[in-house]
Amino acid sequence: MSVKMWQDEQQLEWEKRDIALRRAAELKDQITEYLEQKKSIPDGFEIQGEYTKAKSELLEYFNATEEQWNDWRWQMANRIRDVRILSRLVRLESDEFNDIEKVGRQFRWAVSPYYLALAIAGGKEGPVWRQAIPSGLEILDRYGKEDPMGEEFTSPAAGITRRYPDRLIINVTNQCAMYCRHCQRRRNIGDIDVHKPRQVLEASLRYIRENPEIRDVLITGGDALLLSNKQLDWLLTELDNIPHVEIKRIGSRIPVTMPQRVTSQLCSVLEKHPPIYMNTQFNHPLEVTPEAKKACDMLIKAGVVLGNQAVLLKDINNDPHVMKRLNHSLLRIRVKPYYIFHAKAVKGTRHFITGVQDGINIMEQLRGFTSGLAVPTYIINAPNGYGKTPILPQYILENKNDHVTIRTWEKRVIPYSVSG
Ligand SMILES: *Cc1c(COP(=O)(O)O)cnc(C)c1O
Repeated sequence: MSVKMWQDEQQLEWEKRDIALRRAAELKDQITEYLEQKKSIPDGFEIQGEYTKAKSELLEYFNATEEQWNDWRWQMANRIRDVRILSRLVRLESDEFNDIEKVGRQFRWAVSPYYLALAIAGGKEGPVWRQAIPSGLEILDRYGKEDPMGEEFTSPAAGITRRYPDRLIINVTNQCAMYCRHCQRRRNIGDIDVHKPRQVLEASLRYIRENPEIRDVLITGGDALLLSNKQLDWLLTELDNIPHVEIKRIGSRIPVTMPQRVTSQLCSVLEKHPPIYMNTQFNHPLEVTPEAKKACDMLIKAGVVLGNQAVLLKDINNDPHVMKRLNHSLLRIRVKPYYIFHAKAVKGTRHFITGVQDGINIMEQLRGFTSGLAVPTYIINAPNGYGKTPILPQYILENKNDHVTIRTWEKRVIPYSVSG
């Protein structure tokens, strides 16, 4: 190679490197705003000081030990559900006290000491607090429907909801560790905790046995992990014995609201019944705590595959930066963001409803800007049980089959030909 050729080649290399460096600087610019905002969106690991303080105050009030705190039976038995007790744990203004008392007469509330400590640590009226503690707005909502999804009309057998060709839900309990203020199945929560009686579960199982196209069974509630280990073992064994059931899924907010329920005994039950997929519901990065991580670690060790179904909630997570931080925090604890649900106008939850554009903006600011693993699917549940419908920003501007116009995550409009 002549000196001249070598110099030309070197020159070309520099030019390429220069273009790449300019592009990298452009990409760096795309993320500065998020990095700045992120500082004011802590996750559960970053508020451990506040959490530990709230937890010790709760332990002192209940005169309980660390060991009791880590025992889910203690957590369940000591769920806070009375405004008088709440007011001894947190300073409440008199109108707050009255609102909680008044709402409580109409809609049940209960919160595990663990989740209350987190709510206090995250700040009164903060994103954790508002999911757990009743708001006066719940009883001002005169318009929402009890059952906007029409679930009552999609139950072909006791305990079952079926909306799809190859999969269905078995509803096993109405009990939860915490009754979410945004709950979409409020009408099932009622006033007392009831697991479905054995004969209802038998009827559900019979339906599954008789319908061989069902290959995917989702066990949910309420919170499916509030069944006893023995009941879960029985149900999972029954499902394993149905040859056409290929996978089992569990719907549970336990890793978020009462991670203490995930014990080694529970894990030895789950471990016996692969494949199990579990979707949980983290809605805000503050909920991603060391305890939640421990529960997820144990579930993963037991072979359970974890996903997250967040609900889009006004002033809690209807913000692209918050949602991005949430999804990043979830990936760190090995939970794959699966869905973001648009919240429906269920009676008593109106104050949580956002516009659809909020969800689209979030999707717009996730795709491309961050790992594909951190991008869930945004879903609107169609009325009358017609099913989950994905909602996306518009990425295809013109479609002539072999010639399309796409627009990229950065909004570059580019013609694309299938033949190159
Ligand atoms: C959400 C849901 C499922 C599961 O849907 P996927 O999109 O497969 O996660 C199944 N059955 C019913 C009735 C549901 O509401």
